[in-house]
Amino acid sequence: MSCYNGKYTDELIANAKYIGTPGKGILAADESTGTIGKRFESIHVENVEENRRALRELLFTTPNALQYLSGVILFEETLYQKTASGKPFVDVMKEGGVLPGIKVDKGTVELPGTNGETTTQGLDGLAQRCQEYYKAGARFAKWRAVLKIGENEPSQLAINENANGLARYAIICQQNGLVPIVEPEILVDGSHSIDKCADVTERVLAACYKALNDNHVLLEGTLLKPNMVTPGSEAAKASPEIIAAYTVRALQRTMPAAVPAVVFLSGGQSEEQATVNLNAMNKLETKRPWTLTFSYGRALQQSTLKAWGGKPENVEKAQAAFLARAKANSEATLGKYTGDAALDGAMESLHVKDYKY
Ligand code: 13P
Repeated sequence: MSCYNGKYTDELIANAKYIGTPGKGILAADESTGTIGKRFESIHVENVEENRRALRELLFTTPNALQYLSGVILFEETLYQKTASGKPFVDVMKEGGVLPGIKVDKGTVELPGTNGETTTQGLDGLAQRCQEYYKAGARFAKWRAVLKIGENEPSQLAINENANGLARYAIICQQNGLVPIVEPEILVDGSHSIDKCADVTERVLAACYKALNDNHVLLEGTLLKPNMVTPGSEAAKASPEIIAAYTVRALQRTMPAAVPAVVFLSGGQSEEQATVNLNAMNKLETKRPWTLTFSYGRALQQSTLKAWGGKPENVEKAQAAFLARAKANSEATLGKYTGDAALDGAMESLHVKDYKY
């Protein structure tokens, strides 16, 4: 099949593979201005550019943390920001061996005639934006498609629309040098069983890979960012071993071995849950042709945000919290996490109904 083969082929393959290096993962710090505002509200911090910059500086300059990361996803504003002493964030990352990534979607809109299902916007002008981001140092991108589970959802329309949108985004990124993270997030909202989540996840992933192949996307130069297969947020919880077995089975059934890595979203799980579930997957004795790692937003930042509270005198304490989570998740990519980061705050559920990123 004639998939993308152009000036960026080797670079895309190398960068996707690097992001999936065992022991490393992604920090998703690409909250839009609106979303970070909600986080700030919870810690009584004003949503102004300087506070957004200060939080990101705290994260990116945490001593010894970058060794556990291979990538950081940024919102456009952050790509061009600097530390207080004037060093571009992009340079901080490069020196730490971390690839800068960029959120390129423009959020979701409702699909008329459906029960509140959505499609993701942002294809117009995407090639030009990718070129600008590449020049600024970005090497990978994220586009979040959102699906939900209901009695009749996801509809075939929502599955098709979102799969095609992800595939168009992916090939445009590759033509312009960015490794696309393909993110079809199935929300955890609802009272459905884990079997239902597995069924929907398999249908959605199968549709995504059909669309990616139809659009000639070079799979070796992509990453998948899926939800884990879990019961709905209003159903009884399942153990990490069950979640791990269901999730890896769904991937085995649908995800080509050509893709180098799976970078899971945390989707409202507590920090500790997200870590132990990832750890359980990496302990499974089964066929696993891809690296299984993390691309967590909430599950890497929650205790850090709380410890910081917007106060310069708390930076050190907040950085210690971030380092603990980054290290724990790094160990989980190797199946070697022993539970030593399970402090009080890390157990708190981060689920928000109908979450917008
Ligand atoms: P969470 O880990 O908070 O779900 O977010 C990751 C992300 O980047 C969603 O697009």
